[in-house]
Amino acid sequence: MIVLVANLGSTSFKYRLFDMQTESQLARGGIDRIGEDADSNCFVEIGDNRQEVQTRIADHAAAVQMCLEQLTDSEHGCLSSVEDVAAIGFKAVFAGKLSGVRIVDDNLLDTMEALADVAPAHNPPYAKAMRQLRAAFPTIPLVAALETAFHETIAPEYRTYAVPYEWQEQYEVRRWGFHGASHRYIGGRMAEITGRDDLKVISCHLGGSSSICAMEGGESRSNSLGMTPQSGLPQNNRVGDFDPYALRLVKRLTGKDYDTLLDELATQGGLLGMSGVSNDARDIEEAAEQGNPRADLALKVYTADIKRYIGQYLAVLNGADAIVFTGGIGENSERVRQDVCADMDFVGLKLAESSVQSPESSVELLDGERRISAGDSRIDIWVVPTNEEIVVARQTVAVVK
Ligand code: ADP
Repeated sequence: MIVLVANLGSTSFKYRLFDMQTESQLARGGIDRIGEDADSNCFVEIGDNRQEVQTRIADHAAAVQMCLEQLTDSEHGCLSSVEDVAAIGFKAVFAGKLSGVRIVDDNLLDTMEALADVAPAHNPPYAKAMRQLRAAFPTIPLVAALETAFHETIAPEYRTYAVPYEWQEQYEVRRWGFHGASHRYIGGRMAEITGRDDLKVISCHLGGSSSICAMEGGESRSNSLGMTPQSGLPQNNRVGDFDPYALRLVKRLTGKDYDTLLDELATQGGLLGMSGVSNDARDIEEAAEQGNPRADLALKVYTADIKRYIGQYLAVLNGADAIVFTGGIGENSERVRQDVCADMDFVGLKLAESSVQSPESSVELLDGERRISAGDSRIDIWVVPTNEEIVVARQTVAVVK
């Protein structure tokens, strides 16, 4: 069964194509500047071959059309026809109680649109693109794997806010948790690597969006993302956890309304807001190295928050077997990993001083996977590149079958 996994932005479309018989990746590609008054860059990589085309792409349906044309190209393509694609899977973000993995239908799309205020950067482009794709490719099943599904195992005491009761009952205000596909992958992969299915793992997904998840036996016990993807750790340009009563003060002092202030928190907050440099951790690290005090503070706040969550989750799980770093920052930033793991010897956490040999494992380690803890660290520390797409592809197959 061949499955296309789509990752949508408001003006972008990235995808991976999997043969699920062998779980091998057949192709990956991306299209940017969708719907803009400029040519899109459309690339596809199939094995060692990379093709690039620059052309106008009007909407997401046209983007998928272009992708399918590239994949079925008679010279370089890997599909003989569009019919080879059994389903398209989406890492969809939020549809409230319509969680889990489900076929995309009107009910789901209406709900995602109605809840756009919870995930303003994610829900609108997904719902719009899914509608276009349903109309353009009526024979290909579309499957949404909701980010919140993995966190349904979180106990009530870790998912309930201390809000008026009817807010929970009627308006579903609760800690939903997100980044489910990534944390699910890390939990599963650590079980494969260690050969244990009872592991306590603290998964640190640090990237454009960041979250920490406490997991036991591959199930979520707590997640730093709460009601919306604007919560938890400071995000690239989104605020993270914050006292809502500060809004009343800033509203009075600036004369701005609540919507404007919330938009500011969701676009000019986080690492960007604190550093005043960029929403990209590489730029912020570079500025900090050059002595920019705001950039340095932004990184310190970010790593201090990660540390706080790790501390909480050590308590939630009653200890941990492994802490795993993943995502663009988690996989690549030595500074962030070192700052997070510094001064944690009270729980026996110790990074290796130089690169270490990963332990014997019955499975072959994948590219980038490595243990980075010292031999005498009581908790193992790993870097494991995440693979959200394969999780969505597996879930898509399960639904379509
Ligand atoms: P997303 O959450 O959008 O999928 P990624 O997981 O790709 O994002 O992570 C993007 C982040 O990773 C950016 O902030 C980028 O600066 C950061 N990043 C990538 N490479 C490095 C690096 N070598 N050092 C520090 N940060 C990095």
